[in-house]
Amino acid sequence: MNPVKKIGLFGGTFDPIHIGHIIVAEWVQDALDLQTVFFIPNLIHPFGKRKDITPAKHRLNMLHLAVKPFERFRISDYEIQKGGISYAIETIEYFESQMPQARLYYFIGADNLADFHRWHRYEEILQKVRLVVYDRKEGHIPENLPKEKIIFLQTPLIEISSTLIRERIRQGRAVRSLLPNGVPEYIREKGLYGGR
Ligand code: ATP
Repeated sequence: MNPVKKIGLFGGTFDPIHIGHIIVAEWVQDALDLQTVFFIPNLIHPFGKRKDITPAKHRLNMLHLAVKPFERFRISDYEIQKGGISYAIETIEYFESQMPQARLYYFIGADNLADFHRWHRYEEILQKVRLVVYDRKEGHIPENLPKEKIIFLQTPLIEISSTLIRERIRQGRAVRSLLPNGVPEYIREKGLYGGR
């Protein structure tokens, strides 16, 4: 009998992808022995307020550069191709239809857990996937969420964000160590984030 395929789903804006994302993805992949981790850039975040998100084409190209050295990482452009608001449940249903035998693990940061009950059709999400909550410390599971569907993983977190990186680029400050190989060159070549 074949072992169950375990697939990780890691959604985000990835504007741009940075080493904080890569650390989480590698750590979770290894800890749970996931066959593949899919990075899934969103088109329109359900709670998003930013209007100046970089075109999907560039975010996808940077993701492809970043995952190149990692055998088990893949990119999915499902949310970009689907169009409209990027709801996690629709992405999960898509992966379920593509890989009916797989067990799906959906990554979320511990800071998002408290608000998880506001996610579109969140109860269905919990029926379909295991939530992987990553953080440095044991988080608190809100009462309304089933404990057996939530896995806490302590990952080494680096305190950076895409927002910080965009700001630093705009200010002409150094960011090379925060970005995966090939990404700084891509940003420069395309003139992204108002760099100088
Ligand atoms: P922004 O600053 O533009 O909001 P971000 O850096 O938070 O971006 P997202 O594209 O929103 O990046 O990232 C997707 C997920 O990655 C988020 O849900 C967030 O929890 C997680 N993440 C972001 N930065 C880090 C980090 N430094 N360490 C661990 N996880 C991170």
